[in-house]
Amino acid sequence: MTASIRPLVAGNWKMNGLSSDLAELKEMAAGFEDASGGAADGLICTPATLIERAVRAVDGTALAIGGEDCHANETGAHTGDVSAEMIADCGASHVIVGHSERRTDHAETDEMVAEKAKAVWRGGLVAIICIGETEAQRKANETLDVLAQQIAGSVPDSANAENSVVAYEPVWAIGTGLTPTANDVAEAHAHIRERLIERLGDNGKTVRILYGGSVKPSNADELMAVENVNGALIGGASLKAADFLGIAKTYRG
Ligand code: PEP
Repeated sequence: MTASIRPLVAGNWKMNGLSSDLAELKEMAAGFEDASGGAADGLICTPATLIERAVRAVDGTALAIGGEDCHANETGAHTGDVSAEMIADCGASHVIVGHSERRTDHAETDEMVAEKAKAVWRGGLVAIICIGETEAQRKANETLDVLAQQIAGSVPDSANAENSVVAYEPVWAIGTGLTPTANDVAEAHAHIRERLIERLGDNGKTVRILYGGSVKPSNADELMAVENVNGALIGGASLKAADFLGIAKTYRG
């Protein structure tokens, strides 16, 4: 099943990135096709302030640009927010929704995440829907239940491989340098795949499931080789071209 799904190597710049970082982005864009051997799609999600310039910087390359969040509404009195339509208007192709930092910092619930995913579709873009357990939930052996609940609540019924990507990001692995074992990743991704099929039918078979959480060039080969891992969502290591391209190399074969 995994073999037929084209992988996605996606970066999340979080609240990082100024005009001066566009040179780094250009280096990633110029090197991505060669690094990945043309065997994976590449994406960098930037802060809203950079999207339009990032789109111009990667023009003509294999790298796409996404946003990191959006409001559920198209327009309105929501000071400081941006809509999926605004992100689309800047030339982006994807939007991350439900990242654990949004769930924690902005108290986003599964229901809100599902509304945002639908807003992303309304804007004509692909939603990257993030799920993942906290350290406490993992210690309490609740990982698989939490993932099932998050899928039930955050992934809308009409999700499919064209409009959605699911990213499994154990919260305790984000930015910590810690990663689950390959066996743990395999168990979580198999469980996510089963729940997606239960929920979406055949569409659940082809939705990409990314692994995210301290992916770097030195662990990418092992993590990306796991069954049902269809790419990576990368935070810290997506800020430097050498690291991002080093991860993409895992697909060169
Ligand atoms: C992320 O925030 O999506 C992430 C995976 O971060 P890092 O790679 O830095 O752990």
